[in-house]
This record gives sequence, structure tokens and C-alpha cells, in this order.
Amino acid sequence: MSAAARTAAIQLIARKSPVASPIPQNVPQLFGANVFGLEQMRARLSESAYKALRSCMEHGSELDHALADQVANAMKEWAVERGATHFTHWFQPMTGSTAEKHDSFASIEDGKLIMEFSGKALIKGEPDASSFPSGGLRATFEARGYTAWDPTSPAFLRETTNGSTLCIPTAFCSWTGEALDEKTPLLRSSEALNREAVRLLRLLGDDKVQYVYPTLGCEQEYFLVDRDLYMLRPDLVATGRTLFGAKPPKGQELEDHYFGSIAPRVLAFMQEVETELWKLGVPVKTRHNEVAPSQYELAPIFERSTIAVDHNMLCMEVLKQVAQKHGFQCLLHEKPYAGINGSGKHNNWSVATDTGDNLLEPGKSPEQNMRFMVMLAAVMRAVDVHADLLRTTIAHAGNDHRLGANEAPPAILSIYLGEQLTDVVDAMIAGTGRGSERKRETMRLGVSVLPPLPRDATDRNRTSPFAFTGNKFEFRAVGSSQACGKPNAVLNTIVADAMGWISDEIERTKGKKGLEAAVNDVVVELFKKHKRILFNGNGYSPQWHAEAQKRGLPNFRNAVDAIGNFGSKKNVELFERFHVLSAKEVESRMHIMFEAYCKAIAIEGQSALSIARTMILPAAQRTQLTVAQSVAAAKSAGMKIKAQEKRLKELCGLVDAFVESIDELEAEFEHAESHDGTPDKHAKTYRDKVVPAMGKLRTLADQLETMVDDSEWPLPKYREILFLQ
Ligand code: ADP
Ligand code: MG
Repeated sequence: MSAAARTAAIQLIARKSPVASPIPQNVPQLFGANVFGLEQMRARLSESAYKALRSCMEHGSELDHALADQVANAMKEWAVERGATHFTHWFQPMTGSTAEKHDSFASIEDGKLIMEFSGKALIKGEPDASSFPSGGLRATFEARGYTAWDPTSPAFLRETTNGSTLCIPTAFCSWTGEALDEKTPLLRSSEALNREAVRLLRLLGDDKVQYVYPTLGCEQEYFLVDRDLYMLRPDLVATGRTLFGAKPPKGQELEDHYFGSIAPRVLAFMQEVETELWKLGVPVKTRHNEVAPSQYELAPIFERSTIAVDHNMLCMEVLKQVAQKHGFQCLLHEKPYAGINGSGKHNNWSVATDTGDNLLEPGKSPEQNMRFMVMLAAVMRAVDVHADLLRTTIAHAGNDHRLGANEAPPAILSIYLGEQLTDVVDAMIAGTGRGSERKRETMRLGVSVLPPLPRDATDRNRTSPFAFTGNKFEFRAVGSSQACGKPNAVLNTIVADAMGWISDEIERTKGKKGLEAAVNDVVVELFKKHKRILFNGNGYSPQWHAEAQKRGLPNFRNAVDAIGNFGSKKNVELFERFHVLSAKEVESRMHIMFEAYCKAIAIEGQSALSIARTMILPAAQRTQLTVAQSVAAAKSAGMKIKAQEKRLKELCGLVDAFVESIDELEAEFEHAESHDGTPDKHAKTYRDKVVPAMGKLRTLADQLETMVDDSEWPLPKYREILFLQ
């Protein structure tokens, strides 16, 4: 009986109870306990060293060797006191996850082992990085890349069962200076945003702000599945999603999971996740059940985006590690289950100043309102002009199930402003459109007395990929498994570009018109020009597809179509102008995206084949045999069993079609594997040949699941993995 393992796993689950972990007694004290933060630095460095380091952190200036030695030593003392034996440069290669290579502090002096950490080792690491994707930037004979400390992100301690490791957040580059990671372009884009925002604010009359930075809060969705069941699903283990699985009798239609009470085992897991993240200085705030069964969400308080991106990487790591301890597997894939909601990562983005303002906060004074309307116009221009580029940042195989697919919102980028703000935009357009002086005045005044915009406007639209939510924009199309470095680097860059464009216009016209009219006119011009990107309606409706097409908005339905735009002339020019990526870096990244797509589909294809051939087919054939024998026996005993014969025929037909479908997928897969064209053609072959063949195989397998003897079925079923915890 091949379902024996399944049954055993279910029996185990029935006896599982919440796993205990230490209950935090004092959260403020706990928060950041494992971070070498400002407080630690001040306590352990000389006054002058502390000041110098702060200045490096704030202005991105270089750390000299003497200072680096002092900082490294202080960091080591702090870490060793807390049980650390090793350190690692922690970085974000273009694999979508983080990487680390550990070295111990051990060093031999006069025949004795001492614990030592030099400034040199702090600032720079040389991992043998030949196996990280470089898109051709690093020829194999020059295999080494190097990692460089990013002092804006604090070092932290990772505690594991048998020790602790000091992790130093770093950027990762090739010897020729090209970025090989997601962090470097993010840092560069934040600088670009800072430059353009300060320039614009000066033009608007602000002479106080010195520094502007993007902020980010990532709401992280995920699924939990019991680990004993998970282990019996080779598809989940290899690809993070189920490649087979018939619709369960009960799915999410009752909507009884969303915000429902949290199951005890799950809550215990969440509590430990939070404790671990607090220790790491990640300000997690919210936990709740999501829409789909066994789907959950965790959200932090927003931070400076370069840090928030690191913290989101830590969130994903901690979720996965703590889940195992609690007997769960955490699934970060965008679509682990067909027919059930997928997971995203709502990327809440805004821009803050060193004077404590949020530039997307509709202000109380006329000056603040003017600033807000200018920012709104900038974001509208950015998203409309660069919708293609923004779309590439969320393009990968997993997200294809969430965007533009059957059960998912479209891949069209549009902005939701809500009714009130849209009214303001319309009124401003109408105000100048009619040209009446009186109307113009009221509309300029209209800017000054912006109606209050309640944060919880009743019509909050959950279907928009890019929504204004009171004082920030929420980019919701980001995939749950994604590193947010890329989407945020692009967001920062395209908004910097739009702000630069606005500054140019104001500089050009303010002499003639005066500042207020110059600002008003440029805002109105942008509103008019980019109004087509605004959409408050139901983004999931088929009408919207037609409407968006009429408006000329691009719709890249899948990752492969989207990725090709990354290296367009327009986009290369943009990245180069803001020193975020060079043409070479853009080219290599595009290769990596195509390659990643091919690899993801190849792994899925191979897993599907092996499960179909070695698990599903044998089970189906055993049922076929039993049914055939039973029919033959009944018939030879002279029974009339038409209905059963019909059933046997159906089953045999299905099994046969299944075998044919296996052969078909195998042929398509081999063809795709042997393909040696350009990366985009290769990806197209996977998309057009392998993906549909996998889909066909799945449809047949799912039909078989409903006919094959349950005690023969080897894979835990949806009704089990989704509901048993
Ligand atoms: P929801 O969108 O579910 O209603 P909230 O509005 O409270 O929830 O916030 C969602 C996320 O947005 C949180 O992570 C929050 O910290 C973040 N957020 C709030 N303000 C900002 C901001 N100015 N910049 C970036 N993120 C923000
Ligand atoms: Mg939200």
C-alpha cells in the first residue's frame, strides 16, 4: 500500500502540540539585543572613533584602516561575549536569497589560539564566488568576487542551536567593480533619489532638508504545511509548489480562514519568529491568518529601505528556520497550490526627509500640499513612463502564477488613488483646462486646501497592483519569495528620474511665470499626460483588460515577455544616467533573469516527470489492475456490470492518456534542455513547450487522483496539506 507513509504522517499530526520556546519578558530590552547597533558602538568605541563611524554611515564616506581595526575589534569583543566563534560576510547575490561563508575568529599567535578580527577582514571579504550568477560579468578565470561592508546596515548575531555567528551585511562586486548583487544597485538608487529629491525640494523653497531616503515596509505572506506531509511531496521539496493535486472538497470558498483565530501550533511558531526577529532588530508588528487556508502574514514597521530590504531577507530566513523547529515547512512560493490564493509581498514605499517628514503625506499647510501634489505627479509619471521596467522587477517563474494567469490579477500596472484624490487630480486638470482665471485660482487654492484624505477610505481597493494608501504607495505585485532589492532599486530610480524631469521644467519656466504657476502647471501637465495610469475599479475584471489596452497601457502577461524589456535602450539610458547600473550590468542581469526562469521551469519539468512516472503511474496501474480483475471475475460469473465496465474503460483511457502525456513532456523537456539559442529564445521554449506540457500532465494526474484507490495514492492530498496542522 503506497499510501502508508501518508497515513503515518497524518497520525503523527493528530498528536502534535505547540512547541514551547522562551517567552520574552521585556521586549524593549530584547529588541536589537543581537545587533551591533549605535548603542553598542558608542559604548565600545572611543568618542572620536564613534563620531567618525557615524559620519561614514550617514554620508557613505570611506572607512580608514585604523578606524576599521577599532570597529572590528569592538564588534568581535561584543560577538565573542555572546558566544560567537565565527563571522561571515552576509550578502545578496542575484539568486534571490542570501549567501554567507563562515570564518572563525581563530588565529595562531606564539603557538596559541587567539580570537582576532581585523579591520581588513571586516571591510572586505573574498568569497570564492565562481558559482554565483554573474551573467557573464566574471569570466571563470577571474572567479573571485569581493564583498564590502555596508556600514549603513548594522552587523548582527545569528544564534543557532550550537553557537552564534557574527553576520556583516555586505555588498558583492566583481574585481572590475561591477555589482554582482541586489544590494549595490539599491544603495546607488537611494543616492539618486536623495540627489533629485533634495534638488526638487530646494526649488520648492525648502532650505532645511539635507538628506532624503526611501522608506519601506514589506508585508510578507507565506504558507505553512506540516513537515511530515511536506516530506512526502517531492514537488514541494524541489520546487516550493505542488505540481499535482486535485481540488479539495473544501477550499477557501468559506472564507473562514482570513483573520480567523490562529491555530495553537501556528501561534507558537509565530511567537518564536517574532522573538527571534526582535532580537535581530527587525521591528515586526502584525501577524494574522490570510485568505487561503494555511496562509499567513507577517508585517514589520517600516524603515529606511536599504535596511528594510535586509530585514525582509532575515524575515524569510527566520520564518523558514523556526518553522522546522515547530514541525512545519514555510512555503514562500507565490503559488504553492493551484486554485487557492497565492502569496505576495506588499511593498509599502515612501520617501522621508532627515527633518522627519514623509513626502507622501498630504500636508496641512499649503507648502506641504504643493510638495505632496508634486510627489504624486512624479510617481504617476514614473509608473506610466516606466511601467515596462517596473514590470521586469516582479518577473519570475513563480510570480507568473500570480500575475496575468488564469486565477490571478492582470500584469498591467496601474495606480489606485481612491476617489477623493482622483477628484483632486480631475479638478486640477479641469481647472487649467477651462482656462477661466477664477477657476484657476480656486484650483491653485484647491492645492492649498487639499481635502483631508482619511487613511482608511472605505473604498480601499485590494485589486490594484500599485495603490496609494494614505501616505505611501503599496506595490502589491511583488512576489512573496522575492528579494525586494530589485523592485525598490527600480522604484527609487524611476521616481528620481521623474523628480529630475519636474525640476528641469520648473527651472525652465519659473523665471517667466513665477514659482507657484510653474509648479502648478507642471503638476497639471503631468496629471493630464499620465492620467491613463490611474484606475480605481476592479483590476481583476476582464473589462479592465480591454480598457487598459484602449489606453495603451502595456500588458506583459508572463515573465519571459517582461524580462526582455529590462535591457531596452530607454532603460539602459535611465540606469546609466543615475549611475544605478551600467549597460554591462543591465545586460548581465537580464541574462540572469532569463536563466533563472529556465532553471525554475527545468526543475519543475524534471520533478513532474519523475513523480508522474514513479509515483502516480504505478498507483494508477495498480488500481487499474484491481478494477480489471474484479470486472473480469464478475463477468465470468455471469454478472451484468455495465456501469463498472464503463468505469474501467474510463480509467484505462485516462491511464493511457497519462502515459502519452508523460512521453510528450519528456520530449518537450529534452528538446528545451538541448536548446542552445540566446537566453530569451531558450526561455521562450520553456514557456511555450514545457509549461503547457506540464499543465496537461497535471490535469490528467488530478483526474486520476479522483479515481485511484485512496490507499494507493502516494502524495498527500490538498485536503490534507492545506487543513491538517
Ligand atoms: P495595511 O496596508 O495592511 O492597512 P498599514 O497601512 O498599517 O497596513 O501598513 C502596512 C505596512 O506599510 C507596514 O509595514 C507599515 O510599516 C508600512 N508603512 C507605513 N507607513 C510607511 C511609510 N511612510 N513608508 C513605508 N512604509 C510604510
Ligand atoms: Mg497592506
